[in-house]
Amino acid sequence: MGIKGFQGTSLLDFPGRIASLLFWGGCNLTCPFCHNPPLVLEPETFPDLNPADILADLAKRKSFIDGVVISGGEPTLDNNLEAFLAEVKALGLAIKLDTNGLATQVICKLVDRNLVDYLAIDLKTLPRRYPELHPGPVVAEKLLETIRYCAGTNVELEYRTTCVPGWVDEETIDELGRLIEGAPLWAIQQYHPEHALCEQARAVEAFTPERIQGFADIAAGYAKRVIVRGV
Ligand code: SF4
Repeated sequence: MGIKGFQGTSLLDFPGRIASLLFWGGCNLTCPFCHNPPLVLEPETFPDLNPADILADLAKRKSFIDGVVISGGEPTLDNNLEAFLAEVKALGLAIKLDTNGLATQVICKLVDRNLVDYLAIDLKTLPRRYPELHPGPVVAEKLLETIRYCAGTNVELEYRTTCVPGWVDEETIDELGRLIEGAPLWAIQQYHPEHALCEQARAVEAFTPERIQGFADIAAGYAKRVIVRGV
């Protein structure tokens, strides 16, 4: 598991900040609707980028970026992540971590060490359905542990749900909402099937904008702020 991709500047991925994006290869899930299947299924086909080179590049950019987005794949699987983030913080850059929330211990340690400023955690479907997202073992209780931990921290926090038909519906949003009640932000996202991992998921017709808005209205009963993306 290493850094497989680098995008110098983005205005969209780190709310309120101009950021560089880094992508890690590999994941502990294989969601049928995954938007980045090559990074998940064949990370070895992408060369590992040298962290020292990336840090040197970030140092050159730091006068015009505010932060770095750590995304994937699932970056928390990389044993070197903590040390790398410490180097990024030493440059004075803010860090956003995109994660599926299953590596609770890693996430807690990074937040406790102030190595993460903004945490974006996916809520993909009901926790009891997480074992359907991967042929190997999935301990969905870890996601619940992460949610409980985050409720007691001051880290800037976003939950996000991509509304994939068959995985998310009104009841799902309602049940997920009860799990994260009081969360500062929940992003309800439209599903774009074109690049999904499984053929079946590529054939799914996305929800109408009205239905997505209906999900957001339900979510608004639980999170302090709800936004809709991708519609
Ligand atoms: S959607 Fe996210 S958690 Fe699921 S396989 Fe893709 S990268 Fe992993």
